[in-house]
Amino acid sequence: MTDFANGDVWLVGAGPGDPDLLTRKAERLIHEATVVFYDALVGEGVLALVPPHVRMEPVGKRSGRHSKDQSSIDRLIVEAALEGEKVVRLKGGDPAIFARANEELEACRAEGIRVSICPGITAASAAAADLGMSLTLRGLARRLTFVTAHARAGEVLDLDWAALADPQATLAVYMGKAAAPHVSAGLIAAGLPGDTPCALVEQASLPTGGEFLTRLDLLPIAAKTALGDGPALILIGQAVGAAVLPQRAASIASTASLRQR
Ligand code: SAH
Repeated sequence: MTDFANGDVWLVGAGPGDPDLLTRKAERLIHEATVVFYDALVGEGVLALVPPHVRMEPVGKRSGRHSKDQSSIDRLIVEAALEGEKVVRLKGGDPAIFARANEELEACRAEGIRVSICPGITAASAAAADLGMSLTLRGLARRLTFVTAHARAGEVLDLDWAALADPQATLAVYMGKAAAPHVSAGLIAAGLPGDTPCALVEQASLPTGGEFLTRLDLLPIAAKTALGDGPALILIGQAVGAAVLPQRAASIASTASLRQR
């Protein structure tokens, strides 16, 4: 059973957007909360599950309100908990993956606040499901790497391309839309073939999203032309081709739209 007392904080995974992909535990926590601080990435269908008596506080960068920096968010959560609220911090996908969970955990623990995590379905899982593919392949894709291609403002993307350019890995690139040219160039320079299959999945799990198939050397143009404004995940590796291509074509000559909604 879920233990949720006054003054507790739960970091809750909201999943990729489709409310049906929320865990039962997450839904229970949302119902028991007195306040929900939520990210811009949290799906509207998920937010619609929050009961009307629960206070909703948008803290995300795309929420349309003034964007809050991480320390302000930490402070809001801590203050609410110290006031005796039951706090849900709702985050897109899984709260432990590229979601600044550690800052919030530390801020709570520093104040003696009980803080727990409820996992969620991460974007890579949802994107693979949309594509109808397995992220791992026996003998072909033995490693699955989650990497963020987000560089801090004013800094260049500094990733260990040699370590990432593993032909036996599937690479799931979060926040990679803007950095797609660097990802493509970096991996190719480190030896990954230009025809390595790639998929771009925008708004995974949602009817408004889309999936595009391309290859590593064409990734920059695909990311620029095929995608809209929504969050998008890039999947790179033989698992993409092995799972998706046989149904489509023998080779990818250019970017193909699998489903544009
Ligand atoms: N904690 C989240 C990731 C947050 S980082 C998770 O576990 O999924 C934000 C990035 O996640 C976005 O830039 C995008 O790359 C990816 N992302 C989140 N939701 C997505 C979705 N529904 N479809 C595609 N990518 C998504």
